[in-house]
Amino acid sequence: MNRAYPYEAPASAALLQRARAVTPGGVNSPVRAFKAVGGTPRFVVRAKGPYLYDADGREYVDLVGSWGPMILGHAHPEVLDAVRQAAADGFSFGTPSENEVALAEEIVARVEPVEQVRLVSSGTEATMSAIRLARGFTGRSKVVKFAGCYHGHVDSLLASAGSGLATFALPDSPGVTGASAADTIVLPYNDVAAVQAAFEQHGDQIAAVITEAAPGNMGVVPPLEGFTQALLGITRAHGALLVSDEVMTGFRCSRAGWYGLDGPYAEGAPDLFTFGKVMGGGFPAAAFAGRAEVMAHLAPDGPVYQAGTLSGNPVATAAGLATLARCTDDVYARLGAVTAQISAQVQTCLRAEGVPHVVQYAGSMFSVFFTDADQVSDYDGARAQDLPAFAAFFHAMLSQGVHLPPSAFEAWFVSASHDEAAVERVLAALPAAARAAAAAGGDKAMAQQ
Ligand SMILES: *Cc1c(COP(=O)(O)O)cnc(C)c1O
Repeated sequence: MNRAYPYEAPASAALLQRARAVTPGGVNSPVRAFKAVGGTPRFVVRAKGPYLYDADGREYVDLVGSWGPMILGHAHPEVLDAVRQAAADGFSFGTPSENEVALAEEIVARVEPVEQVRLVSSGTEATMSAIRLARGFTGRSKVVKFAGCYHGHVDSLLASAGSGLATFALPDSPGVTGASAADTIVLPYNDVAAVQAAFEQHGDQIAAVITEAAPGNMGVVPPLEGFTQALLGITRAHGALLVSDEVMTGFRCSRAGWYGLDGPYAEGAPDLFTFGKVMGGGFPAAAFAGRAEVMAHLAPDGPVYQAGTLSGNPVATAAGLATLARCTDDVYARLGAVTAQISAQVQTCLRAEGVPHVVQYAGSMFSVFFTDADQVSDYDGARAQDLPAFAAFFHAMLSQGVHLPPSAFEAWFVSASHDEAAVERVLAALPAAARAAAAAGGDKAMAQQ
């Protein structure tokens, strides 16, 4: 038996084989393939509350939550009712409907600087459109992004760091042309001096800085004290916009997302926000939003074009509204309590086994870095992890029925449906996972000799 994967998932393995014949890698989004941890991704047949059920009939406590949307847990009964009712009234109209207005009103009510909202179907569309709008509004072409921040698979935002400051990124996905990457300036996260230097050199050509409000896509790396404020100050001074990507953090970190935890700022507010994940409740709904003066440049009021056949879809907006309506103070308190319980036990168990690690938080979003460092503040720090230790930890959890993100560079997502029984199962699995991580760390040290 393969020592690393001491359990089988034959039904999932058979489905993966079928999938590979007709889909590259057998998956429709790359990280689902388990490439970073090895083994067979679980094909899920059903999900309810905090649990996933796979094709082999196993039950898992889910700490992925569809990568963020399932903040209330899977198939929440009242959200399900709203979806059923909406679907019974038609699937898509191609003409306006009231739920689109209500969802936009909910977002405006929650996030103080947001005056106008445009609905789209994915986070990728939201950031792509926000960048187009920022360029159209400013008449400038360059965009600053930070290494390790993910904004969907928008061509110009796929560029990651070259070495050094203010590097003009090379396309690092084949298929992204040099032309679409040439206007992207990639900087190290949390590095104010790098942002200042880039603006000193290119300030009059920079349309926008886009940043994850609190990055969760290199693991959780919250902004250091004053970093967001510095971005606001610098963009304001140079006539550029600040785009705060809250696709992951929006309506999760607090009722108003990261902005609700961290803002308001004396330096002003981000000009544009992007949202997704939680606001769709598990359905394809996302948005970009911001100051009315900027949003007015969008078609049909303004010249910047943007559209979508399924934008504001009635079933997706019903799911999003029903989800947000239930994201109450009690829900956020529960997320915080579950996060505190699980992360404390992670630390206790890893410490007991002598596994170097640091846990970082952005509200109730958190992740575990298998690193010697005291703190991870940028992508280089995130990459300096013991990946074999994470893979061993991951598989030990999976074999005990806990489904973690299959990558050391992802946040762990809890939901309000994670009750004491679900949390207890996670806590009970952690000691063995910590032992597995310790053993794998040893393997790594030996391999390096
Ligand atoms: C998930 C995510 C996106 C992309 O959203 P999709 O719906 O997957 O296209 C963009 N930005 C951030 C911060 C995200 O976490």
